[in-house]
Amino acid sequence: MAARILDGKAIAAKVRGEVAQGVARFLEANGRPPGLDVVLVGEDPASQVYVRNKEKAANEVGMRSRVHRLAATATAGEILALIHALNQDDLLDGFLVQLPLPKGLPETEILDAVSPDKDVDGLHPVNAGLLALGRAKLASATPRGVMRLLAECGADLAGKRVVVIGRSNIVGKPVAQLLLAEHATVTIAHSRTRDLADVCRQSDVVIAAVGKAGLVRGDWIKAGAVVIDVGTTRNEQGKLVGDVAFAEVSERASWITPVPGGVGPMTIACLLENALLAAKARVDSSSPNLAGRC
Ligand code: NAD
Repeated sequence: MAARILDGKAIAAKVRGEVAQGVARFLEANGRPPGLDVVLVGEDPASQVYVRNKEKAANEVGMRSRVHRLAATATAGEILALIHALNQDDLLDGFLVQLPLPKGLPETEILDAVSPDKDVDGLHPVNAGLLALGRAKLASATPRGVMRLLAECGADLAGKRVVVIGRSNIVGKPVAQLLLAEHATVTIAHSRTRDLADVCRQSDVVIAAVGKAGLVRGDWIKAGAVVIDVGTTRNEQGKLVGDVAFAEVSERASWITPVPGGVGPMTIACLLENALLAAKARVDSSSPNLAGRC
């Protein structure tokens, strides 16, 4: 039986609608919209597109959004000075430093300088630690998008075997933590994992976040498994493709996300939601525990 498509575009539109309502309520209560800024260093073409899309999406839901552009030659001191100014800006609720940074810049020092309260990418050690303790306030947008997709297809995660392929700080590790909070039995696989195909065959849910086109094959998938494809690479024709061999895997899975149109749109929608959550938390210090919600 062919898998059903988990339509990230449609679900992201729903999330953006929810955020827009939240933004309108925030504006009414506080006399100002939530603010979400982006720091962009250098001229990486893919980053330019992502940043434009983030700014546009933020404006569409009624947020105030600015892009702070610095030349590729900017020093760590200049970037840190900007981050400190954004940390102090009372009208700004959240911001992120677009990755990758130009080579030679101290990425860890720069990301650690972002105030945890405004860290909408969830990359600050305080936020990563809270997530690991099951007390997340701001968790990275892509993992939250993945969790929302799983919720929308009705995947029951409690006690289920889930494999996350990839162990990055921005996708693999945080999504594994969010899955654990939903009582899944989680395996984190990576480039040194042996018998990855077998690990996948034992899994009820497969989440691929690697960046290797077509890595996950049809015969790796247990019949009826849910497959979420986070990976994105460009093939020789310049077309965006995922980590999952879509046609083969669709023959066995119950649900599958397409690339494009799966996780990608959810990332931006959940980033907007993070900014709204950060804004609410800043005006209401009694904000709830947010683990697993999007
Ligand atoms: P990363 O390069 O930081 O991490 C990749 C991970 O894959 C590593 O942990 C590595 O151990 C693992 N890996 C590499 N080769 C492997 C193999 N053969 N078998 C198993 N594991 C292997 O990348 P990232 O930032 O986590 O992103 C992963 C992918 O997701 C990329 O393609 C990226 O473009 C994409 N991505 C998409 C979105 C989105 O919104 N759609 C957001 C973030 C990342």
